[in-house]
Amino acid sequence: MNAVPTSTPTSTILGYPRIGPNRELKKALEAYWAGKITAKTLTDTAEEIRTATWTTLREAGLDEAPSNTFSYYDHVLDTAVAVGAIPTRFRDLGLSELDTYFAMARGTDQISPLELTKWFDTNYHYLVPELTPKTNFTPNPAKAVAEFVAARSRGITTRPVLVGPLTFLLLAKPGLDAPSVFRPLDLLNPLVECYAEIVRALARAGADWVQLDEPALTADRTDEELAMAGRVYARLGGLTDRPKLLVASYFGELGATLPVLLRTPIEGVGLDLVAGAGDLPLLLEGGQLDGRRVVAGLVDGRNVWRTDMGAACETARALQDATDDLVIGTSCSLLHVPLDLAVETELDPRVKAHLAFAQEKVAEVVTVARALAGDAEAVQETLKSSEAVAQWRNAPWRHHGSVRNRIAELTADQRTRSSYSARVTAQRDLNLPPLATTTIGSFPQTAQVRAARADFRAGRIDEAGYIAQMKAEIASVIELQEELGLDVLVHGEPERNDMVQYFAEALDGFAATIHGWVQSYGSRCVRPPILFGDVSRPAPITVDWATYAQSLTTRPVKGMLTGPVTILAWSFVRDDQPLAQTADQVALALRDETRDLESAGIRIIQVDEPALRELLPPRAQQRPAYLAWAVGAFRAATSGVADATQIHTHLCYSEFGEVLGAINDLDADVTSIEASRSRMEIVHELANFGRGIGPGVYDIHSPRVPALSEVTEALRLASKAVPAERLWVNPDCGLKTREYTEVRPALAALVNAARQVRTEIGA
Ligand code: GLN
Ligand code: ZN
Repeated sequence: MNAVPTSTPTSTILGYPRIGPNRELKKALEAYWAGKITAKTLTDTAEEIRTATWTTLREAGLDEAPSNTFSYYDHVLDTAVAVGAIPTRFRDLGLSELDTYFAMARGTDQISPLELTKWFDTNYHYLVPELTPKTNFTPNPAKAVAEFVAARSRGITTRPVLVGPLTFLLLAKPGLDAPSVFRPLDLLNPLVECYAEIVRALARAGADWVQLDEPALTADRTDEELAMAGRVYARLGGLTDRPKLLVASYFGELGATLPVLLRTPIEGVGLDLVAGAGDLPLLLEGGQLDGRRVVAGLVDGRNVWRTDMGAACETARALQDATDDLVIGTSCSLLHVPLDLAVETELDPRVKAHLAFAQEKVAEVVTVARALAGDAEAVQETLKSSEAVAQWRNAPWRHHGSVRNRIAELTADQRTRSSYSARVTAQRDLNLPPLATTTIGSFPQTAQVRAARADFRAGRIDEAGYIAQMKAEIASVIELQEELGLDVLVHGEPERNDMVQYFAEALDGFAATIHGWVQSYGSRCVRPPILFGDVSRPAPITVDWATYAQSLTTRPVKGMLTGPVTILAWSFVRDDQPLAQTADQVALALRDETRDLESAGIRIIQVDEPALRELLPPRAQQRPAYLAWAVGAFRAATSGVADATQIHTHLCYSEFGEVLGAINDLDADVTSIEASRSRMEIVHELANFGRGIGPGVYDIHSPRVPALSEVTEALRLASKAVPAERLWVNPDCGLKTREYTEVRPALAALVNAARQVRTEIGA
């Protein structure tokens, strides 16, 4: 084997944030949708963002920048448009290209948008392409070509990026009018021909390389799908007049898929060596790469910590023996991290010193590449970064002996409650009717509530004034629920900006950013908290609000907490200890909170885990270990209370499949879940679920108010599968994004439906 590195590594990234340093794209999009600016102003803003990005990347010294990673809404939607997969209901609108695009993303008054769902295990949401046997793929390379040409006119040769054909089909779903036997994968051949045209058009425009993103290849794939991967890239690789093809995978290991790809004529592979470091030995095996380019994803695109660049250099050096064309890169697109650390002026400097956002990560990629090329200054920097990382790992101020001791002493007993039947008996005095009615927690976040929070943050009102406003809101939410006749009430969560951020702000061990926005979907951005140290709870968090609400009514008020898994899933988490340990720390803080709620007279406590399924690893082999710690953390959080205290949990999805067993293991007394969009289909899966269950009877994602007959029908279906004393009646999720004008009649229908079905079944 060739032991002498023959060429100098270069640097690239797989993608970059596109919302703009001051969320310019968000603001322009929302102004355009509101009819306040023209399409021209919007496209000009987009152009400015793209140009600024390329300039930034060039000035940072990056050797090769990607293009077509900008998107007005979502890159999967862009790909659907690029291959002409525009369902008829959108074409028929007869709108401009841009407005057709936004109609697919957001719907119109008459038609529903494409479904929005999570992009792998991230918090980014993509629009699910709808395909039918009639989908007629037609190449539309205009956007990709235009971005490439625009960059080149500024002297920057980019590598256009597209979602790869296999991932596109694996993420798509059959359109409503597709026959039941149809699978999107059936369209592989025509789709690949369409891609062939697109990559050729890019070659004609002057692109040397094109990047095809195939993150779906890091999940378990059937033999058929693997064979398809081989076929796709044999076909695209066999084209004449084509650019070089880089197939980028991320979010995990390629495993058995890597040799499949390497048997095709593609010129390069991108590997996530952070989440998929297990691919390294295979890569290093002699002869495998056969001159191919490797984009080594050594800088973590999913998290915010500085890279140990010394370690990255070592891995890169080993790879230099295996390929002559090594490119240092990010593990995935930098879309998932905030843009610029420099603007964070309020962060604890000790935390800030260990952070790297997108811009800083670009600098790291460049530094590693330069260090490998022998640049003395860069070498120094990589060594310093290794020292800094080692210091961070051991920094005493991030570690709390008392927290660690509690974790070390956690016993199985502390994750176990008594039997469900004993709890049912102890909870009888709650006097709940069969088909008890409740909500998921939040009530509409009105403009007034938001304004009060903003005023408080900005110092325009003092704490007492803020608390008074929140209490007034709670009082009106309680009054409304009593008037509607709900059985178990909630305080409505007006004081919470976000169900995770709220707890992160109250717990030690978390930091918050001011500008650390990350795109969630379309124009929506979130600022995930940063979990940097051992977690503890300096003081009770929710007790005052809950007890105030309870003081206003004789009906039980549910205390409302966010579970440990969800808190981790929607934060940037430390990577210097197993997630299981971090989850237990959060769990113990929540356990203290449940006990305080209980002591203050709160008899029902809900611990939400909407993200339980989201963190499920892509590979089946890793799932049992994940589910074990996730369930263990939830149980540690919820098993500190007496039998008489009723624990609820809430999960936000209806495709249970592989998590059903885990949900059962959570051992909550009552579980509410989303069910209405799947028309209660899931109740059959839940029939044997031996505890309380509340399949959502109406969809809160839409402003539509359900008719009484619809809710009654949903409930009838549920009552056929679940015995009345275990069946709960609730909406699919929280109501915070809705208006009172919708919520009032919808909940009235819910309460009336419960009454009607109780009578029908003689409960
Ligand atoms: N309790 C939260 C609410 O009602 C739950 C939200 C969620 O499941 N995402 O808003
Ligand atoms: Zn929910």
